[in-house]
Amino acid sequence: MQRPIYMDHHATTPVEPRVLAAMLPYFTDVFGNAASKDHDFGYQASQAVERARAQVAALINARPDEIIFTSGATEANNLALFGVAERYADKGDHIITCVTEHKAVLDAAKRLEYLGKRVTYLRVDQYGCIDLDEVRAAITPKTILISIMAANNEIGTLAPLADIGRIAREHGVLFHTDATQAAGYIPIDVHQQQIDLLSLSAHKMYGPKGIGALYVRRSNPRVRLAPMIYGGGHERGLRSGTLNVPGIVGFGMAAEIARREMATLAPQYRAWTTRLFAGLQERIEGVALNGHPTERLPHNLNVYIPQIESRAFIAGLHDLAIATGSACTSASVEPSHVIMALGFGEERAHGSLRFGVGRTNTSDQIEVAISIVAERVAKLRALLAR
Ligand code: PMP
Repeated sequence: MQRPIYMDHHATTPVEPRVLAAMLPYFTDVFGNAASKDHDFGYQASQAVERARAQVAALINARPDEIIFTSGATEANNLALFGVAERYADKGDHIITCVTEHKAVLDAAKRLEYLGKRVTYLRVDQYGCIDLDEVRAAITPKTILISIMAANNEIGTLAPLADIGRIAREHGVLFHTDATQAAGYIPIDVHQQQIDLLSLSAHKMYGPKGIGALYVRRSNPRVRLAPMIYGGGHERGLRSGTLNVPGIVGFGMAAEIARREMATLAPQYRAWTTRLFAGLQERIEGVALNGHPTERLPHNLNVYIPQIESRAFIAGLHDLAIATGSACTSASVEPSHVIMALGFGEERAHGSLRFGVGRTNTSDQIEVAISIVAERVAKLRALLAR
C-alpha cells in the first residue's frame, strides 16, 4: 500500500491522468495566444478555451458565456465581492455573509468595510448552519449581495442554496456562493438554485492549480461587475490577462469528468467517511463529529478528539496526510475560526482533525487510517495518564 496515505483532498487534489493528457498538447504544439485568432495557432487555442468554457458551464448548468476564467477561487471570490460592491454602489452598500466563510471571502469583506461598505456576518449553529430567518432579517434596502459558501472547506456543512437563492431573489439582492469545495461533489444548478455568482477552483476537482472561474449570470437578472484587473479586455473585460490555455483545458476536462462520475464517486466517498467515523468511534473514546451529520460533503469528515492537540498530533503522523483545519490559514496558530464559530470553545478547535477522502484512496486505506489515528491517540493518552 502506498505510504503516506493522502487524505487531505480539501486542500488540493492531484491532476487526474485524463486531465493531464488533455492539457499536454497546449503547452507545446498548440501554444497560441487565445486572443490572437487571426492565425491558426491562436484560433486553435481559442477553440480549446471555448470547449473548456462549455464543459465548466455544464457542471453548474450555466451558459458558456457566463463563465469568466480566473486564477482560482480566491480571485473569483474577490471579483464577486469587489466587483458587485463597486458596480452597485449607487444601489446600496451592504453585504451579507457568514462567519464560517473561507478567508478569501472574509478578508475581502473586511477590506470592503475598511473602504466604507457595511457587512453583516451571520452566525451559525452548532452544526455550522445559518438560520434562514436571520438571512431575511439581515436584508435592508441597501443590501446588494448575499455571499454564502455552498460547502464549508473545514467541516463540510452544506448550505441550503435554493432557499437562500429564493430569499435573495424575492428581495432583489444578488446571491454569490463560493462553491469551491462543493462543485464536482454535489449537484449544483445555478437556475434551480437561483445563484447569480459562483466561484470555482480546478485544483479541488482533479484539475491543475492556478485556474478557476467565476460564473456571472447574464439574464434574469443580468449581473454587472466592475473588473479588478485591467488590461487587454479579456474575458468580456472582467478579467484581463493572456489566458492560461493549458490550465483552462485541464479545468474543462476535470469539470467534465466530475460531472460524469459524480454520481458513482459520491456514494463511495460517503461510505468511506461514514466508515472512517464509525471506526474512529469504535476505537477512540469521546470522538465527536464537527459539522452537520447529514447535510455535509460526501468526502469530508471533521472530528474532535478530546485530549489531543491537533497540530502536534499531525506533526507526528508520518504515514497519513490529514489536516487540522484549512490549509489556507495554516500559517497562523489561531484556532480554526470555523470550529470556534460552532460554539464549543477553544479546546475543541485545537483538538479537531479534518479528513478529505478522494480518488487516491482505497477501502483498505480507510482501515489503515483508522488504525494510525487510533494508535497514536492511545499512545498520547497513555502518556497523559502517567
Ligand atoms: N474557497 C474555499 C471554500 C476553499 O476551500 C478554497 C481553497 N482552500 C478557496 C476558496 C481558494 O481557492 P484557490 O486555491 O483556487 O484560490
